[in-house]
Amino acid sequence: MPGRLQNKVALITGAGSGIGLESSILFASEGANVVLVDINLAAAENVVKIIAEKSPNVKAVATKADVGKEDDIKAAVDLAVEKFGRLDVMFNNAGIMHPADDNALNTEERIWDLTMQINLKGVWWGCKYAILAMRKNPTDEAKGLHVGGSIINTASFVAIMGAATPQLACTASKGAVLAMTRELAMVHAREGIRLNSLCPGPLKTPLLMDFLNTTEKRERRLVHLPMGRFGEAVELAKAALFLASDESSYMTGTDFKVDGGLSSCYVTPL
Ligand code: NAD
Repeated sequence: MPGRLQNKVALITGAGSGIGLESSILFASEGANVVLVDINLAAAENVVKIIAEKSPNVKAVATKADVGKEDDIKAAVDLAVEKFGRLDVMFNNAGIMHPADDNALNTEERIWDLTMQINLKGVWWGCKYAILAMRKNPTDEAKGLHVGGSIINTASFVAIMGAATPQLACTASKGAVLAMTRELAMVHAREGIRLNSLCPGPLKTPLLMDFLNTTEKRERRLVHLPMGRFGEAVELAKAALFLASDESSYMTGTDFKVDGGLSSCYVTPL
């Protein structure tokens, strides 16, 4: 059976942990050659080792980049094209939720700016260089269509609903990711480039668990989750795989929610 990403080239940012780590492993297991981008090079290199063991038929390369720097993202996309000849999937997944991100009164401007730099500008630049690379992909002669590619931007459930435990800069940045992704999806639809947002619910990854570091804080969130549990990073990786693959060929501009029903339900304590 050919993999669902057979012969494709995928770049994943924030590949060293959480959603990015699980997606890198899953994409590779489905036949993609992968470029793993992280500000923490050692973490990304560790994922390369895991892939070498699990999926010896594909190639994985790690590179250090800060998605908050345009030159770093350009270099990472250039590396993908140089190593593997093309780019089919761009997963703009890296993001932060800064511990000092708070409400309108307490959030310092430098925290706001840093969050926007990584969560929003980083996604913009990731889209920009992916689009430029995907435009160079060949035309599918059989279908007479430009092959294009799939760009997935990680937003969050907080882009859709307010969080009672405030993280204003993060919430605003993720709302902007949704708006930006929709517009880019419209602008590039006829080039065969699909753009979708992924909206995770609260997950059991370092990003959230470092923040919810007491039972009391975790319980305050769990009460709102219809399934009564946090999501797992691999559950988001499976959704990202669908968006990355041709199985989602008629989807673009979507806010793809993978949140355990959180944003659809009015739940009350038992
Ligand atoms: P994580 O903290 O487990 O992993 C994030 C990875 O991104 C890390 O390896 C980190 O080194 C890397 N990274 C951070 N800043 C970077 C930068 N400037 N440049 C390059 N790499 C950088 O996080 P996660 O939970 O897997 O989150 C991934 C995405 O999902 C983020 O965009 C986050 O906002 C979003 N999200 C997470 C949750 C959750 O509950 N965990 C919920 C909604 C949305």
